[in-house]
Amino acid sequence: MLSLLATSTRALLVMNLASAPLSRMVTPASVPEALLSTLAHAPYASLDDAELASLIRRDIGSLGSMSVGRPNRGQLINGVQLKESEYIHVVRPETAYATEETLFFLQRAVMAVHRQHPDTRPLYVGDISQKNGGHLKPHRSHQSGRDVDVGFFYTTADTWYRPATAKNLDLPRTWTFLRSLLTEGDVEMIFIATYIQKMIRSYAASVGEDPRWLAALFDGTGAGPRGAVFRHAPGHATHFHIRFHNPFAERAGSLAYASLVRAQVIPEIPTFTLHKAKKGETLGMLAKKYGTTVLAIQRANGLKGTTIQAKRVYKIPTHGAAPARSSASSVKKQPARQKR
Ligand SMILES: [Zn+2]
Repeated sequence: MLSLLATSTRALLVMNLASAPLSRMVTPASVPEALLSTLAHAPYASLDDAELASLIRRDIGSLGSMSVGRPNRGQLINGVQLKESEYIHVVRPETAYATEETLFFLQRAVMAVHRQHPDTRPLYVGDISQKNGGHLKPHRSHQSGRDVDVGFFYTTADTWYRPATAKNLDLPRTWTFLRSLLTEGDVEMIFIATYIQKMIRSYAASVGEDPRWLAALFDGTGAGPRGAVFRHAPGHATHFHIRFHNPFAERAGSLAYASLVRAQVIPEIPTFTLHKAKKGETLGMLAKKYGTTVLAIQRANGLKGTTIQAKRVYKIPTHGAAPARSSASSVKKQPARQKR
């Protein structure tokens, strides 16, 4: 058992990805599938709570990167810092921590650009996460090592945070980069202004990409439950915001969540359920129904008194459960001045 445990998620990931073909025969879905099947055999998956807790105390590093919670409310365990290289310029090293998977996918896409287009200047990479994740000003997400702000490949002398235009955006390099992410990585979504999406999409069509694939990527048609990969978000004309799926690190984070909280490695991550109040309901009734307190509901909703209004939707804190990625009831409301 112990020798198996020494195999970190990093080793498994590298073994698995090394065996995945790098050619364009890789379909968008095949790499995540391969990762997930390897994950089923990940050593920590067979540990019981006590073994996991003991490993967290003795050698937490052996568990590899863990992405805990969700991008908007999460933590990063064993984050790895993105290193400056001749291919990548790190804008803020102290907020360039990610999971191993995120860095692997990102760096592979950058290398794909350099293979196809020698003499490419370094790509500027902005915020990812803090060393241990958590809230990172001024972002709403970037909390769990899966969100990366990536600059553009420019045809001009621009380097970072210049809005993309038809004149300055280097579409061949941009598409090579995105294509690698989409076919050889595991991207959940890419936030980017609509007018830039249009430029990218028409370029991709012009080089012969499958129109059905492009429709799925940009319109979400046929893309399954995840919807479109490319999404418009305000403030994303100066950079891509790429959110990766991390099959290893998310699963590890979910498995280890309770043990990590108990060991006080991370704070409990609050999650919320939404409740639409019915006529006659009181805060006390809601507290009882959801196993919380009147005070907790008041705090979550900024309520001073105890009166609630029928048909209004209230946030109900739900503690103790491992946060699930696809929790439909989690709160999505975005404070006005935060970025993604
Ligand atoms: Zn961002």
